[in-house]
Amino acid sequence: MYLKSIEVQGFKSFANKILFEFHDGITGIVGPNGSGKSNVADAVRWVLGEQSAKQLRGSKMEDIIFSGTETRKPLGLAYVAITLDNKDHKLPIEYDEVTVARRVYRSGESEYLINGHSCRLKDVQELFLDTGIGKEGYSIIGQGQIDKILSGKPEDRRELFDEAAGIVKFKKRKAIAG
Ligand code: ATP
Ligand code: MG
Repeated sequence: MYLKSIEVQGFKSFANKILFEFHDGITGIVGPNGSGKSNVADAVRWVLGEQSAKQLRGSKMEDIIFSGTETRKPLGLAYVAITLDNKDHKLPIEYDEVTVARRVYRSGESEYLINGHSCRLKDVQELFLDTGIGKEGYSIIGQGQIDKILSGKPEDRRELFDEAAGIVKFKKRKAIAG
């Protein structure tokens, strides 16, 4: 499983529709300060269900919608979609390719989609459980996060190992059954 592409439209500094496509190997994103490098990572966090505006470096959720520039009016809608190659079926879904999308309007109305079908946040979270990819996963390591992990409580550190070992889903099921 690997990330094939990220599509953004109206998300933070990306007013126009932009498609980032990734290929084999490592991709680096370079650019001047303030050009939107970190906004790409924020887009991925957001589509995976981030609910905290602070985690997305804003003060309220609306801050993720393109707020306009001197020459361009603000937009009313932010949209992000990530497409993953799932030929190895690491994601528990029958499709070989999985697109997870999220859109939000200024009114606050929002929607998640998996392969074009409207779904709940919970469905997105369950799809990525034990893969390391979810918003609590370790596939996105933010600035300062390593320090937090190293200096954190053993119980918090344990959660990371549970995720890597792939046992979070069993713990969740046990909690529901018990
Ligand atoms: P650095 O090298 O300093 O880390 P960066 O390339 O990571 O910079 P980002 O933090 O991704 O830059 O982008 C910041 C830019 O995004 C700022 O210019 C800011 O005005 C713009 N921005 C953030 N939110 C919005 C929004 N809602 N609408 C329009 N522009 C936005
Ligand atoms: Mg940055």
